[in-house]
Parts: sequence; C-alpha cells; structure tokens
Amino acid sequence: MSGKRRVSYFYDSEVGITQLSEGHPMRSKRITLTHHLIVGYGLYKYMDSFRPPLISAADMTKFHTDDYINFLRTVTPDNMDQYVRQLQRFNVGDDCPVFDGMFDFVQIYSSGTVGGAKRLNAKASDIVINWSGGLHHAKKSEASGFCYVNDCVLGILELLKYHQRVLYIDIDVHHGDGVEEAFYTTDRVMTCSFHKFGNFFPHTGALDDTGAGKGKGYSVNVPLDEGMDDITFVSIFRPVIAKIFERFQPEAVLLQCGSDSLSGDRLGCFNLSLRGHGDCVEYVKSFNVPVLVLGGGGYTMRNVARCWTYETSVILNKEVENPLPKNVYYEYFAPDYNLHITPSNMENRNKPENLKRILESVCNVLDNLEHVPGVQATSLQSAQAPDHAEPEEDEDMQDADKNTEARAAFEQTVHEAEFFDPPKPAIDASILK
Ligand SMILES: [Zn+2]
Repeated sequence: MSGKRRVSYFYDSEVGITQLSEGHPMRSKRITLTHHLIVGYGLYKYMDSFRPPLISAADMTKFHTDDYINFLRTVTPDNMDQYVRQLQRFNVGDDCPVFDGMFDFVQIYSSGTVGGAKRLNAKASDIVINWSGGLHHAKKSEASGFCYVNDCVLGILELLKYHQRVLYIDIDVHHGDGVEEAFYTTDRVMTCSFHKFGNFFPHTGALDDTGAGKGKGYSVNVPLDEGMDDITFVSIFRPVIAKIFERFQPEAVLLQCGSDSLSGDRLGCFNLSLRGHGDCVEYVKSFNVPVLVLGGGGYTMRNVARCWTYETSVILNKEVENPLPKNVYYEYFAPDYNLHITPSNMENRNKPENLKRILESVCNVLDNLEHVPGVQATSLQSAQAPDHAEPEEDEDMQDADKNTEARAAFEQTVHEAEFFDPPKPAIDASILK
C-alpha cells in the first residue's frame, strides 16, 4: 500500500450543542462525544483540522430549490404559525422539526462536506472526515428523515467539478434515497447503498432499482434483512465494492458511514460491531482514491461516538486501545468504558442463498454497463479489481493522460443526463456550469 495519507478533519463545536426537539432521536451531541474521544485518544495530532468558510444559501440551491432554502432560512419556532402551508409542502414538522438555529446547523454541516470536497479537489488532502455530515435523505425541495439539506449531494456536485466519475457508498441502515434520486439519471455518479429493505424507512432501494436514462445501471442497491452481522456484511460489501471499482473506476468516493447499522441502535435492526462497520472504511481506503468520509444516522449516542472514533483510527492507521480515554463525557460509556461493543445474539435473517442472488444480480448489471464516462470500452473489459495492489507506474501515467483528455472533452460538452428529469427528479444542469 502507498505511504501516508493526508487526512483532514472537520469539527465545529456549534453542531454539537444543537437540539432538534425535546426527545428527538437525532442528538447532535453525538458529534461532541465523538470529538472528545478523538481528542482523548490523541488522534487529532495525525490530521489537519479545518473549518472552511460557510457555504451560502445560493450554494445550497445548486441542488435544492430556491423556495425550499428560503423557507429554511426564514422559518423559526416563533414564526412557524405563519407558514402552515409551507411546513406541509416542505415536509418540515414531525421528523424534521423547526428548531432554534436550524439554518445555522444545516449551514455548518454542509460547509464541512462541501469544504472537504474542495480540499480533495485541490489535492490538499487524500481523505477528509466530516462526522457531522451525511444527511442523505433530504430531497430537492423536501426535508426527510431528520435531514434538511443534503450535504452528500452538494459534496458530490463539488467533486464532479474535478473528477469525471464519483462513487457514493452508503452503509447507513436506511436507504440513501436522497442521493440516489439526485443522480438517478447520470452516469457520472454511481450510488451504492447497503440497507435494511422491507417495511422500513424510507421504503425505497429495491434490488432492481438500478437507475434510469443515461444513468441506467449506475444506481446499485443491496437490500438486506434484520440481524446483519459482521461476517455476512463483509461478505457482501467487499465483492460489490470490488466489482464497482473494476467496472466504474471512480476517481473519488464519498462514503456515508451512518452508524445506525450497529448492533443495539435505537432505530436500526442490524447487528454489526465496530469492526464489521469499520471494515467498510478500511476496504474503501485500500483502493487509494480520494475519499470524503461522512457520518449519517446513529441513534444510540455512545455507540455512534465509539464507531466514528474507531473509524477515525482506521483512516489514520493508528491503533487505539480498547479502554476509553478519560474525558468529560466518560460517564456516557458506562458500565464497561471500552471502545468496542459486543453484538447481540439476535437472529441473522440474511440467508446465504439470498445474498448470493443479490450479488449475482448486482454483478450482472455492472458487467452490462456499456459506457463509463472517460473510460474506454477496452479498458473496462480488461480492468481488474485493485486487490490491494498498487498500479504499475506506467499504467498510472496512462490513466492520468486518459483522464485529462476525457476531462478536456467533458468540459466542452454538457451531459444530457444532467438535463434529464423524469422519472425521478434529477439535478439541475446549471450545477455543472
Ligand atoms: Zn439511518
């Protein structure tokens, strides 16, 4: 594997003091807890902390509609009575309540993601972490599932300015619906979500939802069942991701690490330990492309902090001890005060024959991709899974040349896919200008 990765870390203490509403399962304090463990273990010493300029409302409208963003800016707990119609229209209320400092909150986490993408674009970092980001359910003009502004989509749009192909990977227990929908009709972004499917929010992400128009085959869904354990998860995650790298050859990755897929999550139903969850981070990192690592769901706060701290250590390649470091939130980690969690004895309802069928179906779609932007068909046919090997230097150079040519060609044309709207709302063409 190559040498040291330059890692950047976004943290803003403002995020952690935000409270959505009394008793709301999404508790921002999990970000504060994570940060204190990262500091307690001394991991911050091995990465750059950064706080980019805040993105503007106009920046958010590169994906979201003007009227939705204006509404988010304007509405407050004190004036919300005057906005009854809009609250309904924009799905703001129950799951996504209006709260004090709401716009500041969305602005901060989104800025971490967009700013992170800019760092990757500028080659100032190899991996960027924003645990406060990853709010993957927000739609173009609708809040959804505790998400207001979709920072994942904004981050990918930023990455597309400098990368021909971007891969989005989502290991939250819920389907990454907002991101999939945004890029459903383009071949420049492949989305891949591993999630509980069937009678579970947001009720999308079926195996045969694979994209539309020019994006046909570029949405990958891995629908799973309750009780998913480490071994089973790794056995489906690794081959799917290897196949995607082989066929799509992404130039950058955005990895959403929702930790509600851990054992014992308040809303989730999987049974992963930190090691099973963290293996996804380790594996994606091994492909040696720029990665933007984001948080996401996670509702058993102490385990969210454990998970994202552990994954920070995985990214940095720094081993951390199981006993947690003393910190001001130490009592939250009672009774054992250890980093690692023990999965439960719940039944794993993911049967090997079903997983085999899913993998075959996914590989079949990927094998049939006729066109990948910037990659010639011959290169696609002969591409091998990286298998943790560094490419030969001369191959590397050839790829770089190819990509430069492809990018130059791309910059002179506008992809039709970005204009294509039905059957699902696509991103605006203007975002690529
Ligand atoms: Zn989730």
